[in-house]
Amino acid sequence: MQKAILPTSRSVLRTVGSRAGPSSLRRSPQWQIRTYASEAKDYDVIFIGGGVAGYVGAIKAGQEGLKTACIEKRGMLGGTCLNVGCIPSKSLLNNSHLYHQILHDTKKRGIDVGDVKLNLKQMMKAKDESVAGLTKGVEFLFKKNGVDYIKGAGAFVNEHEVAVNLVDGGQTQIKGKNIVIATGSETTPFPGLTIDEKKVITSTGAIALEQVPKRMVVIGGGIIGLEMASVWSRLGSDVTVVEFLGQIGGPGMDADIAKQAHKILAKQGIKFKLGTKVTKGDASGDIVKLDVEAAKGGKQETLEAEVVLCAIGRRPYHEGLGLENIGVEVDERKRIVIDQEYRTNIPHIRVVGDCTFGPMLAHKAEEEAVAVVEFIKHGTGHVNYGAIPSVMYTHPEVAWVGQNEKELKDAGIKYNVGSFPFTANSRAKTNLDTDGMVKFLSDAETDRILGVHIIGANAGEMIAEGTLALEYGASSEDVARTCHAHPTLAEAFKEAAMATYSKAIHF
Ligand SMILES: Cc1cc2nc3c(=O)[nH]c(=O)nc-3n(C[C@H](O)[C@H](O)[C@H](O)COP(=O)(O)OP(=O)(O)OC[C@H]3O[C@@H](n4cnc5c(N)ncnc54)[C@H](O)[C@@H]3O)c2cc1C
Repeated sequence: MQKAILPTSRSVLRTVGSRAGPSSLRRSPQWQIRTYASEAKDYDVIFIGGGVAGYVGAIKAGQEGLKTACIEKRGMLGGTCLNVGCIPSKSLLNNSHLYHQILHDTKKRGIDVGDVKLNLKQMMKAKDESVAGLTKGVEFLFKKNGVDYIKGAGAFVNEHEVAVNLVDGGQTQIKGKNIVIATGSETTPFPGLTIDEKKVITSTGAIALEQVPKRMVVIGGGIIGLEMASVWSRLGSDVTVVEFLGQIGGPGMDADIAKQAHKILAKQGIKFKLGTKVTKGDASGDIVKLDVEAAKGGKQETLEAEVVLCAIGRRPYHEGLGLENIGVEVDERKRIVIDQEYRTNIPHIRVVGDCTFGPMLAHKAEEEAVAVVEFIKHGTGHVNYGAIPSVMYTHPEVAWVGQNEKELKDAGIKYNVGSFPFTANSRAKTNLDTDGMVKFLSDAETDRILGVHIIGANAGEMIAEGTLALEYGASSEDVARTCHAHPTLAEAFKEAAMATYSKAIHF
């Protein structure tokens, strides 16, 4: 059996597929001697899990001419992202924002609106229709690319064979020369609180509530918690977010941006208890009671709510897969251990997406899915872990790519900062939507962009330009000297770049 090189840390993974890598690797002796562990199996590659990682990988494998199967136990393709994650949450975020805007933000625009009412049932239906359309679209793409879709729960029988308990009853067994595990993640439970998806909910319950709760407490002020807090606060719930850390948004969000986001969301009506921990929960009555106290210890208080959302994070999921039967290595945080080519300690079994290392993001899973197929088919693949954007789809949105100021300081890297507020941007002014700013961080010596951080309307679209700049190793001057259309929000992006290497014009 080929010996896998196990990563010692996430930084090993970040080096996957350097720019110089692919063509040189293709000719390397290591690639020439690589063989499949077993020949003449039913499938060239089997994906276990039909989420973004699994379905994208399966489509790519089909396109590469590999005989491919994808096993999915949900009965629907698309995984967390399409069914209970990115897509339904964005549907609710978009429509709750519209509702909130019609209620509170039309008069000054010269639009008098009559009786505005929430039809929650219809809002949920619109969400469900978007989800159904997209999941059916993936099934169509499977057919188009010759992928066999097997509806059921897969479990390893041995290193090459997977038994599937079919959704419609019965069992089948398939063999693969290569098997890719893409079984995703699940909500990390909050100790002492039992999830019933009615009173004590995860994000899955939060996208399907049948009525607006009078009060909601969100445990965890990360991206998922804040997106759901926004939805239900806009729809009329009195929402309190309890966060252990001293800032919202999680550790990746730049501190300046997180401070602004906190201020803006608080102004919108969300209450925050930062630096606070939940010590005990009681969901035995109609009302859920939570004991909270300062994270560093201190005065206790009890919060009450009709609904408590647990949003303290997600953890890799691979229950029932039988990894222990074949000896696949899993670390202390339940991540399946892989090397730079996504191989486990059993080389023809690889892993991509949420159930292994790296940020739990759909686009990261997608990149890995394409790369893993390239590794299987060609022996080389590429994911730049230094240029994976993050977006929080509140209003305003928050988006970033690369490193934040704290990370640069901790690494002892000298940097320049340039920023530009949307209050000075003509399009934001005409849109009457001026909250936020764009902030660039570039290397003090070379001006190479190290990080881009945005809070503002459409930040999630604008960050694509920052990601491209980072991917191509651009300097802030490169961006500043690139013509941007007028009047656009993207001009704030250009001006922030100008402020980094020289001076902004309009501020
Ligand atoms: C509320 C919410 C909002 C989110 N919003 C965003 C966002 O805006 N942008 C973003 O980038 N990310 C977002 N995410 C994260 C994103 O959904 C995940 O990163 C992404 O879905 C990971 O893809 P995956 O394929 O690795 O795993 P999953 O999507 O979890 O797919 C794994 C699939 O494997 C199946 N499976 C598991 N075990 C077996 C088995 N034994 N046999 C067969 N099938 C099996 C599961 O049923 C599942 O469908 C969000 C997540 C949540 C919860």
